Amino acid sequence: MSADREVLAPQARTFLHCRLKEVHGPRCFYCGRHFRRRPGRRKTLDHYIPHRMWPGWNVDNLVLACEQCNLAKGDALPLPLVWLLLAVYRPENWELTA
Ligand SMILES: [Zn+2]
Repeated sequence: MSADREVLAPQARTFLHCRLKEVHGPRCFYCGRHFRRRPGRRKTLDHYIPHRMWPGWNVDNLVLACEQCNLAKGDALPLPLVWLLLAVYRPENWELTA
């Protein structure tokens, strides 16, 4: 598989948008803004866990995000996930499992 981001067919993109709208509602996953109430706000598919760590278009790793939130997040891990990892993987646990 190529390291480049695979091109998503328009039908697949439409399917993912519909599926994510069913799961999370027609709003940005990060800021909660409603897409329908803001026609000018572009909705994008965002990889919750960055694409370089979880390549592909698995619906479990996708959320709808407004363009601003998607650009702001970039390729970083989502902060709630970072907090969770820090809470679970404490330095004292590293010594126990080493
Ligand atoms: Zn947003």
